[in-house]
Amino acid sequence: MNYKHYSERPDHLKAEYAAAEYAALKSRIEAAENAESPDLWLALYADWNALKSYLGGEGSRRSHEQSKDMNDPARDEADREFREEIRPVFDNGEATLVAALLASRHREAIGQVYGQHLLNVLEIAKEPLAPVNSDLRVKEGDLVNRYEKIVASGEVEVEGQTVTLPVARSMLKSANAETRRAAFYAYRNWFVEHRDEIAPIFDEMVKLRDQMGRNLGHANFIPLGYAGMGRTDYGPEQVASFRESIRRYVVPLQKKLYEAQGEALGTGSLKPWDVEFDPQTTLPEGVAPVEEQLDRAQRLFDKLSPKLAPHFTRMREEGLIDLENRKGKRAGAYCTSFSDEGRVAILCNSTGEEGDVGTLMHEMGHAFQGWESQAIDAVDLQWPTSDACEIHSMGMEYLSMRHMTEFFSPEDAEKFQRNRWKAAVEIITYIAIVDEFQHWVYENATATPDERDAAWNRIWDVYKDGIDYSGESSAVKAARWYAQGHIFANPFYYIDYAVAEICAMQLALLDVQDHDHAMETYHELCRIGGTKSILTIIRDAGLRSPFDPELVRDLMGHAAGLLGVEATASAMN
Ligand SMILES: [Zn+2]
Repeated sequence: MNYKHYSERPDHLKAEYAAAEYAALKSRIEAAENAESPDLWLALYADWNALKSYLGGEGSRRSHEQSKDMNDPARDEADREFREEIRPVFDNGEATLVAALLASRHREAIGQVYGQHLLNVLEIAKEPLAPVNSDLRVKEGDLVNRYEKIVASGEVEVEGQTVTLPVARSMLKSANAETRRAAFYAYRNWFVEHRDEIAPIFDEMVKLRDQMGRNLGHANFIPLGYAGMGRTDYGPEQVASFRESIRRYVVPLQKKLYEAQGEALGTGSLKPWDVEFDPQTTLPEGVAPVEEQLDRAQRLFDKLSPKLAPHFTRMREEGLIDLENRKGKRAGAYCTSFSDEGRVAILCNSTGEEGDVGTLMHEMGHAFQGWESQAIDAVDLQWPTSDACEIHSMGMEYLSMRHMTEFFSPEDAEKFQRNRWKAAVEIITYIAIVDEFQHWVYENATATPDERDAAWNRIWDVYKDGIDYSGESSAVKAARWYAQGHIFANPFYYIDYAVAEICAMQLALLDVQDHDHAMETYHELCRIGGTKSILTIIRDAGLRSPFDPELVRDLMGHAAGLLGVEATASAMN
């Protein structure tokens, strides 16, 4: 292996080695600060960056190796060692160096070489790590842990079968209406039954986060929540007007889609347990055999982009794609990078279903950006904030659609595309619910659990017009939010997906108008990586801001055409 950073390194990294390296860096701060010229600080930053790259790369490698086989005790131990022994040394070393850099009289010189955005990124990370809240953060972590343990232990009975909550949830996609209905009630009632256990945990969380915000001089938790997401160029006002665009342009289109779905199901109105099954767009089971997926994807990428396809080829050659689902492998899918090697890897859990294809395109979108951004020196700037990160991944989901016949018959490829657009419409409105609810919760930190449930149900009705909840109890309806882990563990994260989705849809629209231009824009987004804030990235790539209401209107007009429904009058205003 030719390492980009730390080509001389111990065979096995230990915490003592990381501590010694940080101590050596720290010992150089005083001289660098005292020097008239910024040269010593620049040299110090370069070495610090190399150490960060090595440690970050090592952490990703150990976690990735463990993900591939979670039953291997050696991999488990290597990962544990990193998390419990090396990570604290890493974090403490970083905190000291970041504080020194931000207080330095030479900080602007660093900004000139690496970009002002680097200083912004480090600055915004300060409040979420403020020492005044360290005890509260530990308590917060414990509360999140308690919530996650309760939910992870959840089991329900569906049609005589005992299943975990995620399995019950996946049964909502079943083609069998009785199964869907049974799964819906089993899942929701579990949360109704555990509400008295979960609601007090959340109540404690809200009060604690409110205190954290006040400790930093804010009126509530919201500004700190935004800082925790690394947002440097938009705040709650822009997000509020974004939700308004969603109400105005996305909700009416969604209502039409729900009507069409209810008709296709033959149920008249659309009942809550039928939402996730649409006979108009669901592809047959086993439609994408796992053993063919990589060859098909290769042909697709070769056609789509001669510039990006070689990254995929290299990943296959170097074993950087772990595709198939197997026992002992970590669930889900992700993309990771080893910046000290300058390499990027993905992990999926493909089982041969249509969803695998979207996931593979999604993770490869992250990977293409990762590869294209390896040329960026500062590792802190290789990946953007999560809202911008998801533009590359979702953008690839849309851009790859023109060659989906590499995976499916032309008829199925078309269904696949419609399915993706419909899912986007539905998720955007759901995200707006979660986001608006969280703003309400932290603006009303003293509300009671009953008041929170009422707020959720009220907001739900605004954004999910077209789902027929008549005859259901308000408890069953409100139970949905207790299942949404982000509300507990990652406050204010969720809107990122909607912001990114709108930007990704914009790439799709551009692709229809001018394919070459769309691909050039995508490449540019990949190259920019995390060197800029999201709104600057979007502007510099020549895209319109996701907070522009007219953009949301245009995208929904395009979606309506693709989905074969007429955009309503209010959607076309
Ligand atoms: Zn992603």
